[in-house]
Amino acid sequence: MGVDKKILVIPGDGIGQEVTAWGQKVLVTIAENYKHNFVFEEGIMGHVAIEATGNPLPDETLEKARRSDAILFGAIGHAKYDNDPSLKVRPEQGLLKIRKELGLYANLRPIKLFDELLEASSIKPEILRGSDILFFRELTGDVYFGEKNRTENMASDLMIYHRYEVERIARKAYEAARTRRKKLCSVDKANVLEASRLWREVVQGIAKEYPDVETEHMFIDNAAMQLIKDPKRFDVVVTGNLFGDILTDEASQIAGSMGMLASASIGDSVGFYEPIHGSAHDIAGKGIANPLASILSAALMLDISFGLKNESQRVIKAVEATLKQGYRTMDIANKHTDNHLVMGTDAMGAKVLENLN
Ligand code: NAD
Repeated sequence: MGVDKKILVIPGDGIGQEVTAWGQKVLVTIAENYKHNFVFEEGIMGHVAIEATGNPLPDETLEKARRSDAILFGAIGHAKYDNDPSLKVRPEQGLLKIRKELGLYANLRPIKLFDELLEASSIKPEILRGSDILFFRELTGDVYFGEKNRTENMASDLMIYHRYEVERIARKAYEAARTRRKKLCSVDKANVLEASRLWREVVQGIAKEYPDVETEHMFIDNAAMQLIKDPKRFDVVVTGNLFGDILTDEASQIAGSMGMLASASIGDSVGFYEPIHGSAHDIAGKGIANPLASILSAALMLDISFGLKNESQRVIKAVEATLKQGYRTMDIANKHTDNHLVMGTDAMGAKVLENLN
């Protein structure tokens, strides 16, 4: 029997507008093919919302988010703000606020390498082959939410973690590790940072509840190096907001491109699904952005928020089939790619839909 779900779509800024349309089209197609009833609403956030209302997260968008079953988000950001640090109202405030308001404390970032893209990465294929990592990035603490101070000649951002914040994400990561290869690596900077010493102490405590999972603690600087040297050594990685932000952009090279990585943010209520990339000013409006991260974010939504595992697998298989047929967007093309098969956002999205049908 089909399910009834309300989905809020927030395309946001830049390429968010271009790629989210394809995540949504995939959800529409799945609903048609499997007789589900998905009702869509649209909301604004980021630079487009500042332009329209003066607020990066209008109350109306937040209300729509609260009454939805899941949210498909694109990206926020505009070059105007990146180059003018003095602007007080900024697009990313919208994203940080919605994460906090919805209690989205765990950001899951699966680093899934499609075999067809082994050659797309700048890392050697023999090092990449077989990599499969699931990152848990903490999302509502750390320097992103700590107290900020600024004088003419001084600035500070407080790195702050509470015990409960580390406990809840560590438990989620251990539960996931149990369903995978039973290895968990906790990344911190406990040799220098007090917040990291609390992080490590708490993870050591939770580890005792999961004796079947092998636990490793690693400093962030070493983790950044090991990730490129030997990505296969990692299974589940759990880390704080700042380290997770940086480490997962680095890990996108394992999957070939930022345009391939989807994420799910979960917590107290509704799930929030988005590519890990930003609004990509350098390619926005050119119609060349890779839509696969948005499409794979839709697949995560089907699985995690709606429990529709077959439908989710169907989307992943359609992406795989499209890559097997040789189709590529520019970010995942290389010298071996047939130039005729390199296409823009809409043509690539359309190929995935064909394969879905
Ligand atoms: P970015 O992720 O937007 O882009 C980094 C690089 O990856 C760029 O060269 C871009 O062209 C490429 N890229 C990203 N997504 C791609 C895709 N789907 N297909 C092909 N290539 C892709 O990061 P940035 O350039 O550092 O930041 C741009 C803006 O995005 C900034 O304003 C930043 O604040 C914002 N940002 C937003 C989010 C978010 O909304 N979650 C995340 C990161 C950055």
